Amino acid sequence: MKKLFVLAAAAISPVLLMAQPGQEPKDTSWKKIYRATAPKINDLVHTKLDVRFDYDKAWMYGKEWLTVKPHFYATDSLTLDAKGMDIKEVAIMKGAAKSPLKYNYDGMQLRITLDKTYKGGENYTVYIDYISKPNEVKVKGSAAINDAKGLYFINPKGEEKDKPTQIWTQGETEANSVWMPTIDKPNQKTTDEIYMTVPAKYVTLSNGLLVSQKKNADGTRTDYWKMDLPHSPYLFFMGVGDYKIIKDSYKGKEVSYYVEPDQAAYARGVFGLTPEMIKFYSDKLGVDYPWQKYNQIVGRDYVSGAMENTTSTLHQESAYQNFRQLTDGNSWETVIAHELFHQWFGDYVTTESWSNITVNETMADYSQTLWMEYKYGKDAGDEENYQGMSQYLSSPNDAKKDLVRFRYADKEDVFDLVSYQKGGRVQHMLRNFVGDDAYFKSLNNYLTNNKFKNGEAHQMRLAFEEVTGKDLNWFWNQWYFGSGHPIVKIDYNYDDAAGKAMVIIEQTQKTDKVFKLPIAIDIYNGAAKKRYNVWVENKIDTFTFNYTAHPDLINVDADKVILWQKTDNKTAANFIQQYKYAPLFMDRREALDYFSKKKMKELAEGLKDKYGPLREFALNKLAESSEAPDASVLKAAEELVVKEKNKKAKAAAINLLVKTGDAAYLPIYKANIGDSSYSVAGAALSGLAALEPANAYALAKKYSRDSKGDLATAVDAIIIENGTEADFDFIASRFDKAPLSQAKFESLDGFCGFLAKVSNLDNVKKGIDMVVKFRDAIPESFRGFTDPAIKTALKKVSAAKGKEIEEYIAQKLK
Ligand SMILES: [Zn+2]
Repeated sequence: MKKLFVLAAAAISPVLLMAQPGQEPKDTSWKKIYRATAPKINDLVHTKLDVRFDYDKAWMYGKEWLTVKPHFYATDSLTLDAKGMDIKEVAIMKGAAKSPLKYNYDGMQLRITLDKTYKGGENYTVYIDYISKPNEVKVKGSAAINDAKGLYFINPKGEEKDKPTQIWTQGETEANSVWMPTIDKPNQKTTDEIYMTVPAKYVTLSNGLLVSQKKNADGTRTDYWKMDLPHSPYLFFMGVGDYKIIKDSYKGKEVSYYVEPDQAAYARGVFGLTPEMIKFYSDKLGVDYPWQKYNQIVGRDYVSGAMENTTSTLHQESAYQNFRQLTDGNSWETVIAHELFHQWFGDYVTTESWSNITVNETMADYSQTLWMEYKYGKDAGDEENYQGMSQYLSSPNDAKKDLVRFRYADKEDVFDLVSYQKGGRVQHMLRNFVGDDAYFKSLNNYLTNNKFKNGEAHQMRLAFEEVTGKDLNWFWNQWYFGSGHPIVKIDYNYDDAAGKAMVIIEQTQKTDKVFKLPIAIDIYNGAAKKRYNVWVENKIDTFTFNYTAHPDLINVDADKVILWQKTDNKTAANFIQQYKYAPLFMDRREALDYFSKKKMKELAEGLKDKYGPLREFALNKLAESSEAPDASVLKAAEELVVKEKNKKAKAAAINLLVKTGDAAYLPIYKANIGDSSYSVAGAALSGLAALEPANAYALAKKYSRDSKGDLATAVDAIIIENGTEADFDFIASRFDKAPLSQAKFESLDGFCGFLAKVSNLDNVKKGIDMVVKFRDAIPESFRGFTDPAIKTALKKVSAAKGKEIEEYIAQKLK
């Protein structure tokens, strides 16, 4: 799963993410509770469902035939999770005949007394007739259930225009038991078949294969879906709506994309790499894609980022991108890779408990690095790895959490920067330590040994130990069952007379824990380098190397894989050598970052970097600098605008020119305003705005109809800056309709600045209502950070408008 807000993906919010307070709840009684793996009394075997939907009531009428067997010990009872349902009938099946059973139902669990004692492994089938009422589920003592309806009716009565009517489900963690009685634990697995009766105008999607479709006399159609391989209840999925299905394939298996009809033209642009991804992961893992087909569907108002339901991944609307957005790069590509990788790590082998979620999410997170490295080269893989590392490091509170966590306040809490981003970097270190061949052989071993079953972190360790012949307890104890990361200071001493260099690595983290780290050190003379492999294992380690010529650079962690925070006391001359000769993305990024901080002219070298995002990085750093760029840098940027193929780097080159305010660049802006890339067009329009505001205002209105990303930001800024009272409806509706996102948060200041200029107080109040509505939509855990910023922005409005508005705001914020 990819969580909205909590986890970074494209449209999702780096600032909100960094601000994620991760405060510990005041009630800490959860620290005393060990979260054991769910006991297995009965095991699911097969789930057969017959469902139809009541759109008016947002109910689902269900009939279920659930085949179960006692796990080992004999039992005469069965307890099922069944949240907020009406239970009409419970019976045991005797052949085709039903015999009623006694049961007790408390709104959360259905406790059934069986007709006799069943032996371990003896199958029996219970029949349940029920109504699922997802919007009416009320659970005593738990507020969280409001976000876990399991079954979602989107615009069921068609009352909201511009929004289609859809149904989709979201099971993880334990929400599918809102729409089907089951043992809703990840350590259960069951085959299934679902008969879904829906209005004939809609298509349906579920796990496995669509076996048949039958038209009914009442204008409905019944689709029969069958999944004959076992999977966990949280991975069950149903989707219903008006979708176009775009079909690709992989080795004869269907690979398809369910998108709203007006998105059909872009579907391959967004999802079209999926067959290549399936091949790549199948080859790397040595386990061919294990399921019957692979579908991806986009759901409106989806509560999370994306979810890896077996064979049927659900994405949120941010997946939708038009051709102009795709020109800037597919922002959803790593999410697509992530969810696909779960089909192996998560669905084929499933975490046995939420405490062990690392065996799902860490692997899916790391798959993003693997894909980027394969598809776009080592720099791109390393950049993906770096982003994950910096996201984890930006949240100091997460250094206190173990990767495998047997204690948590809520099971949703394990879906965090530790299970994903930190875990992904732990895998990166592991791969570097054991080597590529052993790494992928070990993953194959884990998947093969545990297929269609469950795994925990120890199974993964054992799989690696079996392949490598190494005792890896130290690695798992340090990174999986322990918390934190090293914080190090690296110093260098050279003794030219003796021909000796010393590297001193000191671990300065304020815990008792001292990390053991295998480290590569490269010693450079010009382009020539010599590699040394050492172990860091003490609070202070000193490594001595002999040399004949004074080294130009000693590059510690030469593979740039270690998850740590470091103060690396290299000289400026060292960094110049590093940029020139050390080969990796991080080598060059670190050097460019140093040049930028020290305001060194070498930063301009970055404009010639072979990797587009690093050219963009250098351009952005030059644009941020308080120093005016010199003529040669501007000349290079001007040339880049013409020849740069990476659109984001091209936009960054324009932005650097914009900073000069020099009218000489006007023709460049005018030539690029119509660029297919929103980033380039946005940069060009900003350039024009500074020099020809009236012209830019007219163009902003013209482009507003087709503006997203940076162009939307530029359009909004220009219209807000130059707009009049007459633009209120236009500006307010753009703000109001913008999706909950980082961009919207950043636009708040400008929007409030505009409200301060509006004289019609009714309009001002309307605008304030929109800001408050936005505030209320922000998840509770971010409010500590966002509320003060929103208050500050609103103060601008009250300061300009006086008492009536001040009181209005105060009352609204109560
Ligand atoms: Zn995931």
